[in-house]
Amino acid sequence: MTQHFQIPPRPALLNRPVQQIFINGSWCDAADGRDFPTVDPSSGAPLARIARGGSEDIDRAVSSARAALEGEWARMTPADRQRILLRLADLVEANIDDLAMIDTLEMGAPIARLPVMRRRSPSVIRFYAGLVTAIEGRTISNSIPGDVVSYTLREPVGVVGAIIPWNAPFPAALIKLCPVLAAGCTLVLKPSEDASLSSIRLMELLQEAGLPPGVVNMVTGYGLEAGAALAAHPGVDKIAFTGSTATGRQIIAASMGNLKRLSLELGGKSPDIVFADADLDRAVAGAAMGVFGNTGQVCSSGSRIFVQRPVFDEVVTRMADFARALQVGPATDPATQIGPIASERQLMRVMSYLDAGKTAGATAVVGGQRLAGALETGCFVAPTIFSNVSSDMTIVREEIFGPVAVVIPFDTEADAVKMANDTEYGLGAGVWTRDLGCAHRMSRRIRAGTVWVNSYQLMDPAVPMGGMKQSGHGRECGVEHLDAFLETKSVWIDAG
Ligand code: NAD
Repeated sequence: MTQHFQIPPRPALLNRPVQQIFINGSWCDAADGRDFPTVDPSSGAPLARIARGGSEDIDRAVSSARAALEGEWARMTPADRQRILLRLADLVEANIDDLAMIDTLEMGAPIARLPVMRRRSPSVIRFYAGLVTAIEGRTISNSIPGDVVSYTLREPVGVVGAIIPWNAPFPAALIKLCPVLAAGCTLVLKPSEDASLSSIRLMELLQEAGLPPGVVNMVTGYGLEAGAALAAHPGVDKIAFTGSTATGRQIIAASMGNLKRLSLELGGKSPDIVFADADLDRAVAGAAMGVFGNTGQVCSSGSRIFVQRPVFDEVVTRMADFARALQVGPATDPATQIGPIASERQLMRVMSYLDAGKTAGATAVVGGQRLAGALETGCFVAPTIFSNVSSDMTIVREEIFGPVAVVIPFDTEADAVKMANDTEYGLGAGVWTRDLGCAHRMSRRIRAGTVWVNSYQLMDPAVPMGGMKQSGHGRECGVEHLDAFLETKSVWIDAG
């Protein structure tokens, strides 16, 4: 593989004894002084200690966000907010190597992804910076007799609590932060306990960008402590959550006290459908990376691969060869295509699914085991493809969130639609075909928030992404995501 970048140096923030919480523009320890360790999943070596925030810290962070919402931040114009976002974009661009290296060390994202992060991260910020000065209400003609004027205002929803997962730590923090700031809201961010470090670095860059104190606060800690306290806090107007469907249910329950607004980006078990007429070179590589990319730890990972029967054997054989040829290794090695699973806990979860598949009678065409030898101290699993599966098997129904695909043959287009939709989830879907009519019909009939045709996992800040069914509600990216942090207020003026 040609390498177009230097391996970034070890991030300076790792030299601190404990990574602190960020409230009202200042750094502090957790109120009760506790912390917890985080490890490098490529080696199993300790990486850092992180402040273990709890309800007292969340209280302080929410108060700070509330005060900021009613203070200097409220008096800033859209152009002021835009300037801060554009400064942040420049700072992120200048520091992207450091940010990427932090995610590489903490969750095992291969450093080979650096060029993608360089391109994507500043563009997300600049997209929302572009929208800040374009927020508008409407003048609406009404049928009340006389001179009665009615129009709408768009106002920030208020204090937002953002709770994010570990699978794409920096992008997940950024995609919550940008529309929140663009809308004029304030934020309390709770990163995942398995990947807090790039959020910590982001707070430093926000300070440098000149964001007033209290507009963005960050409390690190565990889901059942800091996360649950944030989700239930009466001073929070909206929770923007990304994580598992199971936790999403708990967030809904916790939001009931003050009827918080919610957006939920949840799990998936996305279908990727290969028709017999597809360009198989592209389909095999695209579907394989659609499930193995980021070690399968992608919400919209195409983990159920349906292949039309005439090409089933050929596609499975070629996909298995592709999987065998993938370079699995430490995330800091520039040649690595597939890094480790992000944590020991997630590794155990993936291993239990590999066991469940074998016990149920599925055949591991390739992979199916943890990797040993030089990789045995890290959390490495071989890219795995299961065939001989039936639709009721756990490995076909549940999200594994690891490099594990099931392959299933189908006969007709109608069968493919039925099988693709036979899931409680509805996040992503892929269709590989040269038949334009088939591509359009499938795109309409699959119940998923995104359908990729002859591609998989294409993303852009301008294009909305989100779930149907139990994959959640609301959309991230696009103008839709900005709308999610705005309230509509109607104003009536009797000018008679
Ligand atoms: P998770 O649900 O275990 O945790 C997500 C976040 O919620 C973490 O910050 C965690 O600390 C916190 N949390 C846990 N329990 C909580 C509670 N009771 N109250 C409040 N907060 C709580 O998910 P994960 O394992 O970190 O991430 C993997 C999941 O995220 C997968 O299901 C994946 O599909 C999903 N995901 C979805 C999207 C999307 O856009 N739809 C994107 C990425 C990941």
